[in-house]
Amino acid sequence: MTAISSSDAIGTWLEPLRPLIDPASRLDWPRLAALAAAIDGAAETYPIAAEIGRRPGEQLRAIRIELANHGLLDTDGQPALFAVLAQFVCGYRDIDLRDCTGLGHGALVARYGGSALRRHWIPRLLAGELAGIAITEATGGSNPAATRTRAVSTPDGTWHVTGSKNWISRLSEAAVFVVFLRDPDGGLAAAAVDAGEPGLHRRLIAPAGLAGWDWGILDLDSVPVRPDDVLRGKGMTLLRRHFAGYRPLVTATAVGGAAALFDSVTAALADRHATGGVARLRDTALLPVGRAHAQLTSALLGAAAAAALAESGHPRAERWSAGTKANGTDLANRVAADLMPLVGAAGFRADSPLIKIRRDLGGLIYADGIHDSLYRAAGRQHIAHADTVTSSRQPASQRSPLSA
Ligand SMILES: Cc1cc2nc3c(=O)[nH]c(=O)nc-3n(C[C@H](O)[C@H](O)[C@H](O)COP(=O)(O)OP(=O)(O)OC[C@H]3O[C@@H](n4cnc5c(N)ncnc54)[C@H](O)[C@@H]3O)c2cc1C
Repeated sequence: MTAISSSDAIGTWLEPLRPLIDPASRLDWPRLAALAAAIDGAAETYPIAAEIGRRPGEQLRAIRIELANHGLLDTDGQPALFAVLAQFVCGYRDIDLRDCTGLGHGALVARYGGSALRRHWIPRLLAGELAGIAITEATGGSNPAATRTRAVSTPDGTWHVTGSKNWISRLSEAAVFVVFLRDPDGGLAAAAVDAGEPGLHRRLIAPAGLAGWDWGILDLDSVPVRPDDVLRGKGMTLLRRHFAGYRPLVTATAVGGAAALFDSVTAALADRHATGGVARLRDTALLPVGRAHAQLTSALLGAAAAAALAESGHPRAERWSAGTKANGTDLANRVAADLMPLVGAAGFRADSPLIKIRRDLGGLIYADGIHDSLYRAAGRQHIAHADTVTSSRQPASQRSPLSA
């Protein structure tokens, strides 16, 4: 099977979209090409397959540091679309390269941290360190309002935070966790917690995919949080704004992975045809290939549109990001399911990169928002918006009960 190279992603998938997504030539395309080449180089130097005996998370951290050393980690200073395309390129090489560019969840610290907190963490994150996020609890990741992790005040103003967070990625690799918790008054808040705090305890769980970063349970036992560590703003507002910008990156990573699978499958089919393995390609192969290309392209465009809305602070950004993440990642999973049979049993080998892509894509249905919950949230906002529009013309008694 042909080796997957990040650089191929640009020529094959992104160049044809360029006049549409970057009509004013605002994007630094040479930088994107340099990033793709650096990812290919770093992924060769630090292979992340578990079989090689080194921990994948350490290799991924090394890749981040390598990109930082080349001045290519930072995606700020570019339009938000750049980060989307950068993550598409990363996903194309390997979905485990999610969060290999930019600040990742550290964007919460950059955007909502005070100056001391930003001074402490942002240079470290831009030098290659990693930020994790700890939201999900036993009460369900789709219901952060039910957060039980709680802070109690101490006389010097420090909070002591105790609770348990489930299904946390970057469990061993993160240098800092953005933890969502109940403040002493019961409101939802977020704070940056140094991963080296002795009150943090980790229980690793083996995931079925997305095994690059360690994953599992993060227990907090009276972890100190100083006033400077607390992010400014209400927890739910920060969560919504952050994920409006972050989910398009996840979508692009997923679509990049599926695009690599598409290219591998079509190359294998073309090769089989050219070498006489099959005299004529059946419509049963041509039809899913044609459909898959259109599905992936539309998914990537959806992510690009959502990122642009989030960047501009558009009031509909949250629902676009939620809906396009769920739809784009669903499409990527569907494409993978449709195309895998076309390479036959060779694609079912345990060491097949296609099998890895499928497993990783499966994880992205849950990570960063489970899809039924995202569609529901987006649907509710669309209905609420319709109701708001209607409400200016109709008395309350005639409004749709769905807005309640
Ligand atoms: C690979 C991976 C990485 C992850 N990384 C992180 C991370 O770094 N940080 C983090 O905080 N989380 C992380 N998560 C967790 C992820 O965000 C959650 O899995 C997701 O938000 C869904 O939460 P849950 O699994 O608790 O499921 P739930 O929220 O319990 O949902 C499960 C199902 O129950 C349904 N449901 C919920 N409430 C109701 C109800 N009242 N009535 C009927 N049905 C209901 C939901 O719609 C859904 O279908 C990760 C998950 C994965 C798989």
